[in-house]
Amino acid sequence: MQTSEQRNARHKKAMQRKKEHIDNKIDQATVDKGLMVVLTGNGKGKSSSAFGMLARSVGHGLNCAVVQFIKGVWETGEHLLFQNHPLVEFHVMATGFTWETQDRDKDIAAAQCTWGQAAQLLRDENVDVVILDELTYMLTYGYLDKQHVLEALSNRPQGQHVIVTGRNASRELIELADTVAELDSVKHAFDSGVKVHKGIDY
Ligand code: ATP
Ligand code: MG
Repeated sequence: MQTSEQRNARHKKAMQRKKEHIDNKIDQATVDKGLMVVLTGNGKGKSSSAFGMLARSVGHGLNCAVVQFIKGVWETGEHLLFQNHPLVEFHVMATGFTWETQDRDKDIAAAQCTWGQAAQLLRDENVDVVILDELTYMLTYGYLDKQHVLEALSNRPQGQHVIVTGRNASRELIELADTVAELDSVKHAFDSGVKVHKGIDY
């Protein structure tokens, strides 16, 4: 049976080893550059994670921009909160979901117009953080030219962070990114007939 003194001594030793390991990792992280983050997968949490990073960035006084490539039926909390914020430029694609508009030509025109705004932000050195929410669908549906998008992402200003969300991120997007998370769905309330809720879903 261990005494509490022995337990504390073991804990202290383990924590010292852990601290050494973390300090080493911090020392090894010497590269400073704008990051590209991709949040993909079928699970919930892609856009809300991106807007969590937006909140952090705004908290630090960074200049931010959001381009949302799919406009939902409901006004989102993130739009209500950030649309008039002095540090955030917020663009939302004019049309609704592609299964709502059911008009491919109209969707393509809207996607390209919205991409024009994104491309401009990706050239602007004064913008520190760009969120391209639901961009992956524009590539999956073939509404935007993949090569063109990849070039704009890789030629952005050196210190600019960019966050891309949406399911089925392509291999090229994943390769270009520095950080990629794939959110898995374990269960979602909507699938068992529960209504969507303000704050949690939109
Ligand atoms: P969130 O905006 O909540 O972070 P997301 O960006 O990961 O979600 P999207 O595919 O963009 O997911 O879908 C947005 C909406 O769909 C949200 O209302 C979310 O709750 C819901 N949703 C997300 N994942 C699932 C899922 N696996 N099944 C059903 N509904 C989902
Ligand atoms: Mg989303």
